[in-house]
Amino acid sequence: MAYLNENYLKLQAGYLFPEVARRVREFCEANPETTKRLIRCGIGDVTEPLPRAAVEAMKRAVEELGHPKTFRGYGPEQGYEFLRSTIAQCDYRDRNIEIADDEIFISDGSKCDCGYILDILGDQNKVAVPDPVYPVYVDTNVMAGHTGQCRKDGSYEGIVYLPCTAENNFVPDPPKEHLDLVYLCFPNNPTGAVASWAQLSRWVDYAREHEALLLFDAAYEAYISDPDIPHSIFQIPGARECAIELRSFSKNGGFTGVRCGFTVMPKSLLARTENGRRLPFHPFWQRRWSTKSNSVSYPVQRGAEALYLPEGRKQVRALIDHYMGNANLLRDAAADAGLETFGGVNAPYIWLKTPDGLTSWQMFDRMLRELNVVITPGAGFGAHGEGYFRISAFNSRENAEAVAGRLKSLQ
Ligand SMILES: *Cc1c(COP(=O)(O)O)cnc(C)c1O
Repeated sequence: MAYLNENYLKLQAGYLFPEVARRVREFCEANPETTKRLIRCGIGDVTEPLPRAAVEAMKRAVEELGHPKTFRGYGPEQGYEFLRSTIAQCDYRDRNIEIADDEIFISDGSKCDCGYILDILGDQNKVAVPDPVYPVYVDTNVMAGHTGQCRKDGSYEGIVYLPCTAENNFVPDPPKEHLDLVYLCFPNNPTGAVASWAQLSRWVDYAREHEALLLFDAAYEAYISDPDIPHSIFQIPGARECAIELRSFSKNGGFTGVRCGFTVMPKSLLARTENGRRLPFHPFWQRRWSTKSNSVSYPVQRGAEALYLPEGRKQVRALIDHYMGNANLLRDAAADAGLETFGGVNAPYIWLKTPDGLTSWQMFDRMLRELNVVITPGAGFGAHGEGYFRISAFNSRENAEAVAGRLKSLQ
């Protein structure tokens, strides 16, 4: 019998979305007549179909693979040159951010990259995450054995939690203590918060002073509407020495099911060894992909490339405008209902204070019973999410309008 990686035993049993699903199922079984009315504003998945430009490009690519002259087998393990150079040019150099083509590594998504990146990071790093936070950052570190046991409130020994509260506008400042690895996500899931130039600059300054690494998750970059908010950590001077950026086509191109994202790994980013050597991370990231992957399928990479065509850009813009139209409706309706709302301006998530001192899960049950709307309880994202809940704007307009209407009847 083979031994188990016992770090998996440390994972919290009642993971957020299974518990949401369980409560919804029980409600539907007990109230079959209202099941039809149920609207899900819970899980952060897109709802609208793929941009036509991506669909057509993927079809053409599949045809190519079916003909002897244009057939392709294994592609480059770090991604095709055509996609790496398009990304580096359009997302970075066109915005005056110095990123080379071979600093882009194509992957099957940012969630996956969160796990992969730990392959090249040491076990002795002092890790910090914001609280509340996208659960993947913590759980991948638990699985890799970078934490102690889980505490009663769901936090883990050995991880530093950076509270995100209404007082700091849900953007934590760097702490006094030393950290080696800090996860940052802006625009944020779940709070919808964005970080300003000054706030990100403080993090870059901290990282350079402490020789720490920032893992910057920019999955929602395309949702930024405020012209003064940075889209990339690499817009901040000095970030090439201290940051890795994670990007995804999931939330802009609707690729949650197609699967494609990328990391930006600057060649100037250094790692340390136990005996004090300094080495760039880049060749090790390159090696990790060569050995463990054959990249993403050719049709998918052609589909991602098409999102940068003039037609593709227009279609992506229309998708984002659609979701942000929903966010506006939902935010206004929630505010009219007397709820204290955050986010929903540069991100497809609205973060709301529960009324009447309810806990997150009490609010979840109330929204389910009274409005037949599924939301996500803030406590599921961390201890500091208690007392909040998240409404997702990923929905049809019809559903968003219905939810906005129902919020009016919230007592
Ligand atoms: C949706 C999301 C991603 C994207 O994940 P993929 O694996 O690329 O689909 C990354 N980070 C956060 C915080 C997200 O909410």
